[in-house]
Amino acid sequence: MTGTFQAYQITKDEQGTHAALTALTEQDLMEGDVTVNVEYSALNYKDGLALTGKAPVIRRFPLIPGIDFSGTVAASDHPAFTIGDRVLLTGFGIGEVHHGGFTEVARVDGKWLLPVPEGMTTRQAMAVGTAGFTAMLCILALEKHGITPGGNELLVTGAAGGVGSVALSILAGLGYRVNAVTGRRSEEDFLKKLGAVEVLDRKAFAEKAKPLAKEQWDGAIDVAGGNTLANVLSQIRYGGAVAACGLAESMALPASVAPFILRGITLYGIDSVMAPLELRQQAWQRIAKDLDFDLLETLTNEIGFADLPAAAESILAGGIRGRTVVKIC
Ligand code: NDP
Repeated sequence: MTGTFQAYQITKDEQGTHAALTALTEQDLMEGDVTVNVEYSALNYKDGLALTGKAPVIRRFPLIPGIDFSGTVAASDHPAFTIGDRVLLTGFGIGEVHHGGFTEVARVDGKWLLPVPEGMTTRQAMAVGTAGFTAMLCILALEKHGITPGGNELLVTGAAGGVGSVALSILAGLGYRVNAVTGRRSEEDFLKKLGAVEVLDRKAFAEKAKPLAKEQWDGAIDVAGGNTLANVLSQIRYGGAVAACGLAESMALPASVAPFILRGITLYGIDSVMAPLELRQQAWQRIAKDLDFDLLETLTNEIGFADLPAAAESILAGGIRGRTVVKIC
């Protein structure tokens, strides 16, 4: 590779952190055995935290943010990848300690890459992105618990956001009865189109939870943490399970042990960043099979580099509907 490429870079000095579109060269890339011409990245909640500096997501400066990307292999010393392969990457610390996806060119460890599944475009891969991948990890956890579509009633919080909207779409497509929790009543029609049977107001989950409440759900996916998760736990039916992946409300968990010791429920913690390769492959194969990509398009917006600062503020304010892909080139 010769010449320069554009990347969105975060630098730090005594005044704080600064984000700017910068011309970089190959010498600015970090270590890795595969070079990728990036086509799409995505805006995830964690990118919002990184870009605004509201949480110390970026732990090395200067750094290119963006916790995921898809594109085409430009050079490879890794046996699994050759020039022209379509690849995707989520997590493994990109956009945190290793240069991320808001760049025209990325160099990464080939162990972190996956092929884009057959039949999926690089744009669709990032419309799914970290959020959609995490949604599938949550679904796999509930399935492993024994929760199957036949008559089971599920709950998804933060349903109009990235993880929530993809989880809702997939679960409804699989035949579950899925109830959507949202703070945005204006998104009720949108959530019903994705397959929600009922749309519930987030306010009903916002107060301090009772140890036990009426049993209503066989399983749930929670992106919020805090009182929301505590209330969800108290409403899970005997033997049910919750997959918790987020902290959009809070890092805290003001809950009691009552649902665990009196109703035998299970709380699964979901991490996408260091998820093992086999689980990643399984999740992406299931996404390719079980997600309706026409429906995915209806919940996807596209932005460019110039839109990132405003979009970052918006995602933290809970103002972004569904998924946001970042078109790189
Ligand atoms: P989004 O911002 O797209 O969605 C989050 C949604 O949460 C919002 O759209 C909103 O949904 C809801 N929400 C916002 N504030 C509150 C609140 N105070 N109380 C209750 N609900 C609230 O983010 P993502 O979907 O990308 O990510 C969701 C969470 O999952 C984040 O915390 C993120 O960090 C985490 N995450 C974790 C991963 C992991 O590996 N564990 C991977 C990916 C994401 P609505 O408007 O419908 O109410």
